[in-house]
Amino acid sequence: MNLELTPEQESFRRAVCALLCEESVREEVARARRLPADQEPGLLEVYRRLAERGWLAINWPAEHGGLGSSVVEKAILTEQMIVHGIPDVVHTLSVDIVGLAIQRLGTEAQKRRWLPRIAAGEGAGCVLLTEPEIGSDLGGLSTRAEPDGDGWRLHGRKVYSLKSQFADLALCAARTTESEVRFHGITVFIVPMRAPGVRVEPLWSMSDERFNQVVLSGIRLTAEDVLGEVDDGWQVLHDLLGIERTGIEFEAKARRLLDAVLDETERTGSVEGSEYGELLVELDAEVWAGQLLAWHALGDMLDGDLDDVRCGMAKWHTTETAKRISELGPEICGLTALLSARDAEAAPGWLLESAFRDAPGLTLASGTSEVMLSLIASAGLGLLG
Ligand SMILES: Cc1cc2nc3c(=O)[nH]c(=O)nc-3n(C[C@H](O)[C@H](O)[C@H](O)COP(=O)(O)OP(=O)(O)OC[C@H]3O[C@@H](n4cnc5c(N)ncnc54)[C@H](O)[C@@H]3O)c2cc1C
Repeated sequence: MNLELTPEQESFRRAVCALLCEESVREEVARARRLPADQEPGLLEVYRRLAERGWLAINWPAEHGGLGSSVVEKAILTEQMIVHGIPDVVHTLSVDIVGLAIQRLGTEAQKRRWLPRIAAGEGAGCVLLTEPEIGSDLGGLSTRAEPDGDGWRLHGRKVYSLKSQFADLALCAARTTESEVRFHGITVFIVPMRAPGVRVEPLWSMSDERFNQVVLSGIRLTAEDVLGEVDDGWQVLHDLLGIERTGIEFEAKARRLLDAVLDETERTGSVEGSEYGELLVELDAEVWAGQLLAWHALGDMLDGDLDDVRCGMAKWHTTETAKRISELGPEICGLTALLSARDAEAAPGWLLESAFRDAPGLTLASGTSEVMLSLIASAGLGLLG
């Protein structure tokens, strides 16, 4: 694995950095970060600025709104967005998860229908997998697509979906066929979120991110809305979750959080002579290790060889590291860390307080740490039954 950027990639990184440092972008980000969760803007102007240059979905082919570059350029963009504090969840979900899954598995008609608007920063996607009784164990899901003429009617209730209030489309897993084999008979549909029969309601939590419950009441779907094969959604979910688990987003978050802690301890001199010095050095090494794992997982994807176990390792390591730093922030930096970014006394872009509230979710989303460890132990090390 070569972690050196080519001169072209390095110049792309600098160009993205320059755009994200422009005053108008900084102002928009500061404005967006001060807004309460129920007023967040969703698709930002900076997404459109990136899209004008073809950068938002740079790894997609030109006919779908990208520049046909590699996943490395895409990862550079994602990292830079996080490093510069751009609210990135709408982008990650729309481009790096939903869009990329359609790019990899969709038909040409599905790509033409959905991808250009996402790449232009004008359309958003979300994921509808989790249900009130089902999270890790998707084989037991109860959302049903019931046969209706040449298609289906979709009925069910999904929870903990992020950004569905802005989304034009969702990737939604539903049971199409009853089967003794739990993982057979599931189909992944591309659901138009503006269709009649879709209701989105907020589920508030201690995080700044608004979760949603999405109620699906008889939405009409046809073969054109199936991603991959009917009844073979397990394969699609495998791909989708692999994409979510490369860890690029989380290693960049861990780096940004650690840098914030280091800046604060340098400003206050609070670490000198304390036991935290060594801990910070250790965390720095963990963040670097997470970066290596994430880029390795990404490299596999680039070679067309998405590796479940490597993705599981990257996801586990990067999220556990980011969580540890989030939880240590207040311990190391003291009460200042608990100032909200919306507090007048907080430094611009202050992020440790919201990171502290987000910490528990890091190791749950896209597969919990226990499930990742189980995957590594069984498929990677052959340790379990
Ligand atoms: C920030 C965030 C964003 C999210 N975004 C979305 C989204 O956009 N769309 C969506 O559909 N869902 C989303 N989710 C939901 C997420 O996918 C689920 O929370 C996750 O799959 C875990 O499911 P659960 O919460 O039902 O927990 P459960 O699966 O019920 O797990 C409960 C506990 O049991 C443990 N456990 C479960 N199975 C095993 C096992 N086999 N071995 C060992 N331990 C096990 C888990 O590790 C966990 O500690 C999001 C969650 C978070 C926190």
